[in-house]
Amino acid sequence: MVLERTLSIIKPDGVKKSVIGNILNRFEEAGLKIVALKMVQLNKEEAEGFYAVHKDRPFFGELTSFIASGPVVISVLEGKDSISINRELMGATNPDEADPGTIREDFANSIGENTVHGSDGPETAAQEIAYFFTEAELVN
Ligand code: GDP
Repeated sequence: MVLERTLSIIKPDGVKKSVIGNILNRFEEAGLKIVALKMVQLNKEEAEGFYAVHKDRPFFGELTSFIASGPVVISVLEGKDSISINRELMGATNPDEADPGTIREDFANSIGENTVHGSDGPETAAQEIAYFFTEAELVN
């Protein structure tokens, strides 16, 4: 079995709603192992670095201000197909389009405040994990 890692962020709206435990439980129930975990508040510069791929999008300012607006919970999830399993648990980017039972359908307010981030492919997962964690911080 090929294990895959992905990066998850519970965004400031999820932390404010006190659904950290609920969301982490969904990951574990789906068979994903939490191999790194921290709670931090990003500054604007860190947020801009993380979302650099979106720098030309019209919502870049809103996106980076929001993710830096309060504490976030950042984790690395490991398991077979962890990237796609996490994306399924998250639901569509716009919560109005998210399937019932997904994190975004259950908790998100809007496309901007959509509760969770999850890597969208193996390359971005590797980059995003390295952005927040050293190899030594990942549990074997
Ligand atoms: P994701 O992979 O499902 O998170 O979606 P994307 O990679 O397409 O976009 C990254 C993040 O940008 C999303 O999670 C949204 O929070 C945000 N975003 C996307 N589109 C919009 C938009 O039209 N307005 C705002 N404010 N934020 C957006």
